[in-house]
Amino acid sequence: MHELAIAESVLSTIIDRVGERRVHSVRLEIGQLSGVSAEALRFCFELASVGTGLEQAQLEILEPPGRGRCRTCREEFTVQDHILLCSCGSSDVTLMTGDELRVLSVEVIR
Ligand SMILES: [Zn+2]
Repeated sequence: MHELAIAESVLSTIIDRVGERRVHSVRLEIGQLSGVSAEALRFCFELASVGTGLEQAQLEILEPPGRGRCRTCREEFTVQDHILLCSCGSSDVTLMTGDELRVLSVEVIR
């Protein structure tokens, strides 16, 4: 399961930074085009965090939509899927947001 590996990687990254301290909340950003299911990741995070300082952590997941910019006409538009095609007919489109997968913030209990 793809999301379990991601959850374990996020957990170990956070534990590397905060050590043994208990974590109150974690905020993640998972773009809608990242191919990662936020619900599956949440489930895996809960499983994988048992016995760590993140066991009780609240997980907040932001899911920004995809945004593309056309290099031909410079139009910006929402990208619903991985077909990057501008309304002008050009497929020379840069994906600006939507495929991110990152930890935005971690709040530890002091
Ligand atoms: Zn265009």
